[in-house]
Amino acid sequence: MQKHYDVIIIGAGPGGIYSAYELTKCAPQLKVAVIEQGHALEARRCPIDGEKIKTCIKCKTCSIMSGFGGAGAFSDGKYNITNDFGGTLYEHIGKQKALELMKYVDSINMSYGGAGARIFSTAGTRFKKLCLENKLTLLDASVRHLGTDLNYVVLKNLFALLKESVDFLFDTPVEDVEERDGYLVHTKDAVFSCDKLIISVGRSGSAWMEGLCKRLGITTHSNRVDLGVRVELPAVVFSHLTDELYESKIVYRTEKYEDNVRTFCMNPNGIVVNENTNGIVTVNGHSYESPDMHTDNTNFALLVSKHFTEPFNDSNLYGESIARISNMLGGGVIVQRFGDLVRGRRSTVKRIEEGLVRPTLAATPGDLSLVLPKRILDGIIEMIYALDKIAPGTANDDTLLYGVEVKFYNMEVALNDRLMSEGHEGLYVIGDGSGITHSLSHASASGVFVAREIAKVL
Ligand SMILES: Cc1cc2nc3c(=O)[nH]c(=O)nc-3n(C[C@H](O)[C@H](O)[C@H](O)COP(=O)(O)OP(=O)(O)OC[C@H]3O[C@@H](n4cnc5c(N)ncnc54)[C@H](O)[C@@H]3O)c2cc1C
Repeated sequence: MQKHYDVIIIGAGPGGIYSAYELTKCAPQLKVAVIEQGHALEARRCPIDGEKIKTCIKCKTCSIMSGFGGAGAFSDGKYNITNDFGGTLYEHIGKQKALELMKYVDSINMSYGGAGARIFSTAGTRFKKLCLENKLTLLDASVRHLGTDLNYVVLKNLFALLKESVDFLFDTPVEDVEERDGYLVHTKDAVFSCDKLIISVGRSGSAWMEGLCKRLGITTHSNRVDLGVRVELPAVVFSHLTDELYESKIVYRTEKYEDNVRTFCMNPNGIVVNENTNGIVTVNGHSYESPDMHTDNTNFALLVSKHFTEPFNDSNLYGESIARISNMLGGGVIVQRFGDLVRGRRSTVKRIEEGLVRPTLAATPGDLSLVLPKRILDGIIEMIYALDKIAPGTANDDTLLYGVEVKFYNMEVALNDRLMSEGHEGLYVIGDGSGITHSLSHASASGVFVAREIAKVL
């Protein structure tokens, strides 16, 4: 079977969704298909229920990472509107354009169910000065916090709109792409042809993307990995920051090694959760917009970036190996009180129970100094003491540290300023699968950008 489309989009994450959305607005005459290996939104369900099924049973496609909405579907829905973090899209399309597109995506989210979600901003905040006085740097951003609940509503509404004019093929992994008078897209049971191809396969498509780049002779570059812990403490300790900014991205330069440690993914009144990447259990965090779902704790990650190039260049493998040690020692994620870590002793069930911070994730009490490299751990401890100066209580003995948190990045695909692969006319690579975005807003903005590029030429 062969069917022709003007544009095929591989992947229905934010990158793919916003490409499809913008194509329907700018070039409604085009025939567009989205091919996605995961399920439709309402069919996405992770079987882990904490009772009958406690750990990953390796479903054919992971409902957390794949399907309509991509990796972002059950995320906290924090759309950070900034060039300071979340990707380097601006290096290709310019800072002003990147910001303009992120704001445009925000306006679509507001029109399709997100209205009412608050936007927070660092503009004019007194915390910038306070941070600098304590050797911390507060990065600039506006953040729209949809929350896991509203994020789902927006996706549901966008699908209802798009399905009227775009062909969606779910549960259909793309096996290969061939360049022939446009592109041929091979799935198990069919071949589709198109004039323009948008590849938006995200983190879960990283291995596939690497293989495709090799087959098509597309240059790639190694990327970094971020490693660290998730901190959990009483929400009141950070409430002066989270009430005003929601998410504060703070960077600290360590005195000992001059490494940068940064906060990441702050979840006021949230919960700490397990994340499963290819069978390796790491830690992450969520929070809900609805007050009914709030907890008494706030959590955020403290991360250090490592980028390997010569002779070893697989930064992700390094991160994976560290995460495997924590899984080997703890059977999954390890939790430790800060007081135990600095005293050089492991945490135990009893010490955690006696502590004043109630963990929101059932992790194994243990010793993170046996897992994380000294340099990384020293940096994290230094930063906790620095944060204690702007949020007293951060360095309390009972503050909980969960490990390890790892942020994996795709290798970076060489792309021109139209996000097209040089020498492969009409082949666009966007979102996290390109290695140049690492966030909902940047991935979505890259989708809008290429849709407009295609509308100009088709
Ligand atoms: C738990 C969690 C929480 C997060 N929270 C936030 C947050 O609050 N804010 C934020 O900015 N970012 C967050 N992120 C990151 C964010 O989700 C991603 O940056 C974003 O989803 C990237 O969008 P994308 O479209 O590039 O890729 P993805 O969302 O990964 O979508 C790619 C899609 O392509 C499909 N695919 C892959 N290979 C193939 C193939 N061969 N054939 C067909 N389909 C394929 C996948 O199934 C997937 O659905 C979070 C991520 C996770 C996992």
